[in-house]
Parts: sequence; C-alpha cells; structure tokens
Amino acid sequence: MDYVSTRGQAAQLGFEDVLLAGLARDGGLFVPASWPRLSGEDLAALAGLPYPQAAFRVLRPFVGDAFSDGEFTAMLEGAYGSFAHPATVPLVQVGANDFLLELFHGPTLAFKDVAMQLLSRMMDHVLARSGKRITIVGATSGDTGASAVEAFKGREAVDVFILHPEGRVSEVQRRQMTTVIDDNVHNIAIQGTFDDCQAIVKALFNDLDYRDRLALAGINSINWARVMAQSVYYATAAATLGAPRRRVAFSVPTGNFGDVYAGRVAAHSGVPIDKLIVATNINDILVRTLDSGVYQPRGVHATQSPSMDIQVASNFERLLFELAGRDGARIRDLMDGFAGKGSFALDAAMLAAARQGFLACRADEAETTATIRDVHKRTGLTIDPHSAVGLTAAAKMRASGAIDAATPLISLATAHPAKFPDAVEKATGIRPRLPERFADLFERAEKVDVLANDTALVAAFIEKRARAARNRAAE
Ligand SMILES: *Cc1c(COP(=O)(O)O)cnc(C)c1O
Repeated sequence: MDYVSTRGQAAQLGFEDVLLAGLARDGGLFVPASWPRLSGEDLAALAGLPYPQAAFRVLRPFVGDAFSDGEFTAMLEGAYGSFAHPATVPLVQVGANDFLLELFHGPTLAFKDVAMQLLSRMMDHVLARSGKRITIVGATSGDTGASAVEAFKGREAVDVFILHPEGRVSEVQRRQMTTVIDDNVHNIAIQGTFDDCQAIVKALFNDLDYRDRLALAGINSINWARVMAQSVYYATAAATLGAPRRRVAFSVPTGNFGDVYAGRVAAHSGVPIDKLIVATNINDILVRTLDSGVYQPRGVHATQSPSMDIQVASNFERLLFELAGRDGARIRDLMDGFAGKGSFALDAAMLAAARQGFLACRADEAETTATIRDVHKRTGLTIDPHSAVGLTAAAKMRASGAIDAATPLISLATAHPAKFPDAVEKATGIRPRLPERFADLFERAEKVDVLANDTALVAAFIEKRARAARNRAAE
C-alpha cells in the first residue's frame, strides 16, 4: 500500500516511511493512495473474533508487506494484551438501540492507548530492523503524554521527551507520566503554559538541522498509523451490531478530528455507517464549519473535557482532500488561504458532501454535567465528561430525527471517569475510584525535570540525553 500527501506534492511513500515521517514534506498529511475494501463477508466474520485477530484483518491491507503475518500478529497481541478488559473495547447497551463503546481500558485509561500501544511496537520494530534510533518530542495537556510515555517506555530504539506545563495537569495525569522511571523516558515540566510547551516543540521541529541531528519524530494524531489503528473499533462494533445487514451510526467526542476521521476511514473500507456525529464541547469550530461552510478558529475556552479544548483540528485536512476529489492543488489553496486570512470556506459541493457523511452537534458545560447525572441515574454507569459530550450529541440527534429509531447508535467512551473525578463528582455526588492496578499511584516515586520556559535550554537538555544524537556524534 502506498500513501499520498493531501497537498499533492510529496513523493508517494510505503507504510514504513509514513509511520516514521508523521507529516509529509510538502506540509500535507498522508492518506492511502486507494481505499482497501472489506467485503460483506469479511465484515460479518469480525463479529465475535478476539480483538487482535479482528484488528489483523482490518489493518493488514494498510500495512502491506512492512511486517510478516507473524510479526504483525505478535504486535497486535502485545498491544491489546495490555488492556484490562477481556473484550479490549467492550460494547455496553445504555438504551433501546443506544450503545457505549468503552475505549478506556488501556494502561492510561484513555482511548489514546488503542493506537499508541500499537504505534510504539510498530515503530520499535521498524527501527530495530534498520538499526536507527529516533527521538520523540511532544507537548501534552495530559492524555497524549501519559499514553506515549507508557507505550514507549523501555523501547530500545526510541527516547521520549514529553513537555507538560508545571502544575497545570491533573495529579493523576502527572503521576501517570512521572512515575514511569525507565531510562528512555524523560518528563519535562516547563515553567509555563501548555501553549509555551507546544511553542518549544514547534521551534525544535522547525530547526531542521536539530531535527535531523536528533532524528525527531512526532506522535500526535496527524500520524497516519494512529488514525488507522482507531478505524478497527468502528468495524468491530458495527459487525457486533449486525453489519453488513444493518447500518449503524456513531457519536464521537471530537477535538483534533482524528478519532472521527478514523470512522470515515472505516466507512471508506466498507463499514456501513449511516452517519458520524461530530460531537464537540463549547470549542465548536467543527460544528460551526458544518453549519456554515466557514472554517474559522476562535479563542479556546477551558472546559471539563480538556482533551477537546482545541481550535485547529489538524485531521480535518484529510476529509477536505476527499471532499475535493483528491485534488492536492485545491487543498494547497485552502491552506494558503487559512495561513493568510485565518479562515477558509468550503464550496457548496464540498459542504453538501460533508453533510452526507457527518452530523455535528455541540454540548455546553451544563448539558455535559446533566448527561453524566442522567446516565448515572438511569443506568448506574459512571461516565467521564468527554464521553458525556458524545452521549449528549447522540441524544439530541435521536430527538431531532436525524438518526432514526431503527439505527443502532454507538457513542464512543474515550476516558475512564476516574481520570476526571471532579467533574464526575460534581454531577453525581460520587467520586469515581481508580482501578485497583493504580492503587499505589500516589505512593510511587516520581522522575521529572523542571525547566524554565526557554527553547535553547530545553534543546540542550534533550540533545544531551537523546541516544540518537550520540550515535550521530560517534559516526
Ligand atoms: C484526545 C481525546 C479526545 C479527542 O480526540 P481527537 O482525535 O482529538 O478528536 C476525546 N476524548 C479524550 C478523552 C481524549 O483524550
């Protein structure tokens, strides 16, 4: 399988190169040159398979010949063996034809683990084969950093440096990162905000000499392999509920458009998806875009679902590329316009095509709290605020008739309630408890370096510790 850039000017690459590159050289994002198709029979056969085996069948065509069958199977079994639930991603019924897909049973209690656990194994394998090392540098407001630290700890060919704003992530999130004491994991608390952390990371990647010297790699959701891995649970959930005979719909709590775009990938691959609901909190750029056709960021507001407090949804470019008939020049125009004016407009045909596949709905803070409370009262289940945004949107779309009663509607539950205990306690009066395996989280020793908000200082700190840099110096 070859991959093309959404901006049409970068060379086509195979899976292995796409895995390590992240962003294409022309600034675009990678998508498959053509969509592999699961037949109706393939899809029906996913029902009831152990998750690693289902993932193998869905992902094999995307990965091509990068791994042998045995190698790929071992990676999938390792990745999903790290989940605490025997079904990996259990599907729970919450209403007559409404379901919750629990994606939070991984090692750090957020859905990011589904992709990150596989990504780390694939990267390490490819690097071991070539004898290369990479240096992962990322900024986090919580979930992505914890998931990355957990997934890459102890990996021979990778050093990981995660910057978080000192004192501005929750204690659970911080400890999930800082209590990982492997030599290749480096937690850096920056004396600044999340935006400061992100600015430092961007500056490091934009210093091309530094980037090459340290073999910097990114692990955020513009990496195709993350989106690909997430497409699996759309296929397995649909098959469980009767696909290909029955069409299903999904409601997806959305920030960077990565997860909901993974649903689109599943649809391209033949999963009969009626609609994907783009569910946002009050940071609603995507809802406004699907309403008006104009994509225009506004200021970010802090909410109880902080992992969706985002104003630029990077993965939206992948959808635009499809809507524009895979015309890379058209995407370059839109993105140039965006860089210049801070907004762009979809033409009528693109907007109509987008509305065929997607509904969009926003949940404000009061609605989110009410949903956590109602679900708890009605079903006894405790849900986190991100999942509640998805369920709020699902209920609204049912009520409006946009999703009819006969269509199964699956909301994605993206975080464990104990990751956001304050919001849950406010809504239900009950403080959710961490699973037993985290019982000693608050006693474990922490390893973290506190650094000033200074790019040169951070650059030197990382260079001194990154093994990729040492290899270079020895060459
Ligand atoms: C990252 C995250 C999201 C948003 O996912 P995107 O791929 O950015 O749309 C939703 N919920 C939780 C808990 C997350 O960590």
